[in-house]
Amino acid sequence: MTAHQLILKQRAELLAVLCGGGSAEPLDCVLDLLLACEVLVWEDYLSIRVVEKPLCSNVRQLFDVVYDKGEDACSLLLAAMNQVLPEEQKAGLCFGKECAVLGKNRPDTATLTLLADRPVLVRKLRDNIDGALNALLTTGCFTIKDCDAVQLPVYTPSQQVRRLLDQVRFKGETAAKTLLQYLEQTETTRPNPEDKENHLSANCLLYQKKLRSSVAAQSHSLSTYGGTGRFSLDDIYTDGLLEVMDGSGETLTLGLEDVVGPLGTLNEDADTVLVSGEAGSGKSTLLQRLHLLWAREALLTNTFLLFPFSCRKLNSEHRELSLKELLFLHCCWPDRSQDEVFQFILDHPNLALFTFDGLDEFKQGFTDEERHCCPTKQVPIPILLFNLLQGTLMKGVMKVATSRPQAVGPSLKHYLRKEVLLKGFSPGGIDCYVKKHHSDPAMARRVIESLQANTVLLSLCHIPVFCWIVTKCHQELLGGQDVIPQTITDVSLLVLQHFFQRKSPQPQGVLGKAWLEEHLDTVLKLGQLALEGLEASCYVFSGYELQRNGLTEQDVSLGFLIYCNDLSVTDCKRYEFLHITLQCFFAALYVVLNRNSDRSAVSRLFQPQYRQLSGLSQRCLGHCIDSSVEEVESHVTETPNLQITAQFVSGLLSQRHHNLLLECCPTAVRERKVKQVVKSLSKGMQRHFKSIPRPVEGEKKSMHAMPSFVWLIKCIYEMQDNSIAQDTMAKLDVEHLKLTYCNIGPVECTALSYVLKYLRNPVGLQLDNNSVGDVGAEQLLPCLHICHSLYLRNNNISDEGIRKLLEKGMKCESFQKIALFNNNLTDACTQHFALLLKSKQNFLSLRLGNNNITSQGAEQLAEGLSYNQSLQFLGLWGNKIGDRGAEALAAALKNSTTLIWLSLVDNGVGSAGACALAKLISQSKTLEQLWLNKNCISREGVECLIEALKMNSSVKEVWLRGNNLSPEEEEELSKQESRLTF
Ligand code: ADP
Repeated sequence: MTAHQLILKQRAELLAVLCGGGSAEPLDCVLDLLLACEVLVWEDYLSIRVVEKPLCSNVRQLFDVVYDKGEDACSLLLAAMNQVLPEEQKAGLCFGKECAVLGKNRPDTATLTLLADRPVLVRKLRDNIDGALNALLTTGCFTIKDCDAVQLPVYTPSQQVRRLLDQVRFKGETAAKTLLQYLEQTETTRPNPEDKENHLSANCLLYQKKLRSSVAAQSHSLSTYGGTGRFSLDDIYTDGLLEVMDGSGETLTLGLEDVVGPLGTLNEDADTVLVSGEAGSGKSTLLQRLHLLWAREALLTNTFLLFPFSCRKLNSEHRELSLKELLFLHCCWPDRSQDEVFQFILDHPNLALFTFDGLDEFKQGFTDEERHCCPTKQVPIPILLFNLLQGTLMKGVMKVATSRPQAVGPSLKHYLRKEVLLKGFSPGGIDCYVKKHHSDPAMARRVIESLQANTVLLSLCHIPVFCWIVTKCHQELLGGQDVIPQTITDVSLLVLQHFFQRKSPQPQGVLGKAWLEEHLDTVLKLGQLALEGLEASCYVFSGYELQRNGLTEQDVSLGFLIYCNDLSVTDCKRYEFLHITLQCFFAALYVVLNRNSDRSAVSRLFQPQYRQLSGLSQRCLGHCIDSSVEEVESHVTETPNLQITAQFVSGLLSQRHHNLLLECCPTAVRERKVKQVVKSLSKGMQRHFKSIPRPVEGEKKSMHAMPSFVWLIKCIYEMQDNSIAQDTMAKLDVEHLKLTYCNIGPVECTALSYVLKYLRNPVGLQLDNNSVGDVGAEQLLPCLHICHSLYLRNNNISDEGIRKLLEKGMKCESFQKIALFNNNLTDACTQHFALLLKSKQNFLSLRLGNNNITSQGAEQLAEGLSYNQSLQFLGLWGNKIGDRGAEALAAALKNSTTLIWLSLVDNGVGSAGACALAKLISQSKTLEQLWLNKNCISREGVECLIEALKMNSSVKEVWLRGNNLSPEEEEELSKQESRLTF
């Protein structure tokens, strides 16, 4: 019988076996083979495999198409089916004479090669789709959308590969070549099974695969976008500012890939990297990104297994566990050979990475008192966690933990390899985020413009969680609110309104003026849950707890609570607030709106150190409170949250929200609470003021801010009441206010400025080593008139920030000193300094060290200096002004009657520059110190200086270390002039 006849005769049976079981896989395999041997061309394939049609009609279409192609085609179809179908299904069927389904000649294009090798490729790529997609993504052949379309979870891995191959064909020859190259590479880099070192057992590989896919699934989307299905992490992730301080105190900027890398390592013996940042700065998101990229083999490629942990979830693990149980129960269960997989981890600690998100949310503060190093012994979770962090257990496994800075005490710091600071979004990052959020460019532009018009809001957007809210609530924002958002409370009220509006039954979701009152019941229930949780360091809630607080499914559907995204094996649903700041906000709403709250609720928030757990939280969230945890330790985690809550309470009690709260809270109660807040703030400030030491004789009266000073200032700012700010500041009497290393970003600058502007007498404001940036610098303008000196060393400020600062500074009579060492200043800012020097004849000190000022900038500065008769200190250490710059400055300063100190250290100044400075020396009657270390001055230049010094009696020292002189020359020249130091 011919193949034609065989197909015709057995059509019904052949149809049944190809469609049996309902899986399209046999048909797809047959199609792969027929494409490879060119029985089918691409157009045939497209006409046969129509996903929207039932499988059996696809198969019928295949039979029809092949039947029409003649006898050879029919025999190849039978051969393909014979090859694909399992033996038991072939019983009773006849496939004709044996023939091999082979491709013909080697194709000459990559696209045709993919077709010819399709059956093999489907097998090869099945276990490696992520890698292939990543190669296509990084070379730009695929977009994220293409990748998502390939990896839709409804498809089996083989179907995903076929979709990938189809898409590559559609993209053209370059994509096909990229894929072939990738396959070639993976063939050559695949570990050689003969090589013992590289040998990974099949079980370990299987476990890795399972871990990768569960980590990928867990990190694919952001919880704040949960449910909307609009964004994957790829779509919205925006790089945050990451910094690390190296051994010499220099700040280095890091990329995501450097978090685990060697950059900034301070302690080689430790293996824990800490990423610290304030609430909402993006710590969890950063970890999530690391997880996702690892799962896709796009980053951390030397890490074989990555185990992600969430400290908030570890809080609810009350069993004693061994390390093995911790890894397998909380991250990923090995389907086979648990012992073998665990032994592999123990034997290869350098191939594993553990991450611990939210160390600050772990109920117990870190201690290193109890040592534990046995991976199989069961111990309480805190002991396990702390010993992992210390490296007593599993030395050599790299760990990345995240935390808010307050929760990291000295005992933990001791075990850190390095501490990376996450400082939120840069101004460019904010733009980028808004553009990613709004696919409509016109809308993105409107949002960005509205932020630029409201720089207070812009400064808030440096904190990603607020950037998310502001961007999400753009309609409310652009639609014009009664109150222009200025504070975190304003912004959080926006998100509250937005969520209620989303669920509003009214047409177009418009909310009435009394929207808060309408939803008061829900707000109070959520608020109570939030507050009790905070007080007990509990951030994850069971359905039972929700029920007990009276929360219904409808309340949950509003979206403030989300399901916990959890890898561990649990059988009940658990919930958390969208973000910890939102939990704090609801807690604050409860404190303000609950009519039955006890009178001490407000004061307890402002004095967390004296706080007792309320009876209520002990009763309702009993399971969260571990009796073995001493109360003192739990304060470590609670204080920052209660401080944020206190900030929100201050904001809600602000006069600005009086109308909104009017119907929700009796005026008398509200007023009592306002009084309590004001009193607490005033008391808190008094405590700070009392701590100011008496000034040592001859020194300025100075206050070094303690950690909660900035928090109190932020609470005062939230109240938006000038008289409160004024009253508080009236009592502060200092000449110098030191706020170095205090995590001051743009948001803190806004608050500081709002409050400090009411100081009675001018102060020196020292903000060195913070993250003020250009936006923060602009926020400082309202208090500039009360600053006689402004110290902004190491603060990421650029020319634009300086322009705005000086424009205002020029008009401030008291403003006399500025220090800007180590910022991002270039020649573009020197014209503004020149203008300042020209117009302000009482300006005393200008320090611009370690920026990028060249000879051009120096020439511009010189222009201003030539008109100035007040400057005493000029520092330009570590710029690039060269001889030309030195000549210009020397000429401009020749006639100065005030200059005392000049530093041009490390500026590429040679002998020509030195000779020009010699002229300055010969004329100056005031200059006392000239610093010229680390330049390239040779003997000739020094001789000029010596000549000039002969005519000058005011100069006390000229520093010349590290110039172009031999030791003999140095000795000889210093004998000629004792004021020279080599
Ligand atoms: P933290 O862990 O520091 O409290 P999160 O990582 O939870 O902060 O960030 C809060 C929210 O801010 C996220 O849910 C997300 O909406 C947004 N976000 C944070 N970092 C980023 C980022 N890098 N890219 C995009 N959005 C971010």
